Amino acid sequence: MDDFYLTFARQMRARYGEKVYKLPVNLPATCPNRDGTKGTGGCIFCGAKGTGFENLSSSLSVREQLEINKKYIGPKYKAELFIAYFQNFTNTYFPPDVMAEYTRQAAEVDGVVELCFATRPDCVGDEILSAIQEAAGGKRGCIELGLQSVNDETLNKTNRGHTVRDYVEAVRRVRSYGMDVGTHLILNLPWDDREHAARAAKLVSDLGIDTVKAHTLYIEKGTELARMYEAGKIAICPRDEYIRRAADFLENLRPDISVQRLASRVPNEDTIFCNWGTGWWKIRDLIRIEMVLRGSRQGCKWSDE
Ligand code: SF4
Repeated sequence: MDDFYLTFARQMRARYGEKVYKLPVNLPATCPNRDGTKGTGGCIFCGAKGTGFENLSSSLSVREQLEINKKYIGPKYKAELFIAYFQNFTNTYFPPDVMAEYTRQAAEVDGVVELCFATRPDCVGDEILSAIQEAAGGKRGCIELGLQSVNDETLNKTNRGHTVRDYVEAVRRVRSYGMDVGTHLILNLPWDDREHAARAAKLVSDLGIDTVKAHTLYIEKGTELARMYEAGKIAICPRDEYIRRAADFLENLRPDISVQRLASRVPNEDTIFCNWGTGWWKIRDLIRIEMVLRGSRQGCKWSDE
């Protein structure tokens, strides 16, 4: 029991009275930060595979992917309710009619109670949000926005192609369509420090988002980040420093925002550095110990004044 923070599992159990499991959906998506629309090369940490390592082929329809994953994951995790999770690359970077069809297929699958789309802050325009809202047919939607850092200088150095202000505007727009908002953050980007981790928690708390994923920075083979790391141009902070930043983050995070992750989960063979050579669960356990030693818990430093 992770009683020092609100897990996503607990948030879902409170909402539905039972276990809810995320089923990955892989769309033939790319990203405006890779295809030249916004930039080329993508974010310095973004690998060619994107983040959806457990995904099925994007040549299968959304419906087929969900049905296959449901048959496998449902019995394995004893789950009957699911979230269709569009995870890889920029999942709202499609024409509105295509987006509507993907959304409709997911919403029609039995047992799917929510739809979740991972995307960039500059890819949630009104046309896309209204296409998703209409096609979801009343099913609850969540837009997971990649913010990664609250430091514009860091966003620039990582070639994100958006600012913190773009993120804030995106949150407000998504909210105006009645959808939930999730946010991805990397708590140990080389140009950030403990203060940025605390500031990130305060920002997402003030904006009233619903859920966060805190990632450890990992270095995937073949990325610009890997080249910088091997050339000695960047350094990764020590593990203990990450633990302190994660604890600072949790202390300043509103208690009703669920936390889906406190460390990255990626296959070792794809990386040249990940989680200081240990498992994500070990990182989480160390954060727990840090919180116990501090006598703190999620939100203990948060105030809405
Ligand atoms: S926004 Fe996401 S998909 Fe696009 S380049 Fe950056 S990490 Fe990759």
